[in-house]
Amino acid sequence: MTSSTPSRTALVVEDERTINDALAQRLRAEGYVVEQAFDGPSAVERASSVEPDVVLLDVMLPGFDGLEVCRRIQAERPVPVLMLTARDDEADVLVGLGVGADDYLTKPFSMREVVARVAALLRRVERAEALAVERPATLEVGAIVIDPGARRTTVAGEPVHLTPTEFDLLLCLAREAGQVLGRDRLLREVWDWGDSWGSAGAARTVDSHVKALRAKVGAERIRTVHGVGYALEALP
Ligand code: CA
Repeated sequence: MTSSTPSRTALVVEDERTINDALAQRLRAEGYVVEQAFDGPSAVERASSVEPDVVLLDVMLPGFDGLEVCRRIQAERPVPVLMLTARDDEADVLVGLGVGADDYLTKPFSMREVVARVAALLRRVERAEALAVERPATLEVGAIVIDPGARRTTVAGEPVHLTPTEFDLLLCLAREAGQVLGRDRLLREVWDWGDSWGSAGAARTVDSHVKALRAKVGAERIRTVHGVGYALEALP
């Protein structure tokens, strides 16, 4: 981060003080303004008073858990959330619940990875904001209609509520409807992952979000090509 970049505020929510402090220290070194919270209720309070640009959120917290924190924060004001999970399969559950987390990191993670993922989340938000200003044309793929400017989606005329990540994923697939998009490409374009970030959780991130998206737009509309990726089909 260069000195000309305006400071972004990150809220770190983690009850294990050593982890919280290590995250805060590293993010400060990268130029972020960092706020810390150590339990569910104070995390919601801090998010409301500080209005962070990004939230790093542990799942297991005293008070109420990270899922509830995520729901409450997102209900008040949309903000990108990087969830810190104890196990890979926990991420699946989280995505399925649709609490509005945008990305996941499984412990133990490297500080380098955290910084890269936070930066990627912020780039995505900026891109989405730029897109909203451009007011691009509506996309139609079969019964799915996507308004990229308003970030609204309907299926057969019915509004569908998508999380920011689900929306970006659907938009990416819709731009090349019928074509198979590989997981690598989806990770690059939707999550803004760098080519060199390969980790075991990467493919799982895509698969979990595709699963959640299918539940909302209809499973048959997203075709799986095993070992390759996914394609959005134009179905009535
Ligand atoms: Ca914890």
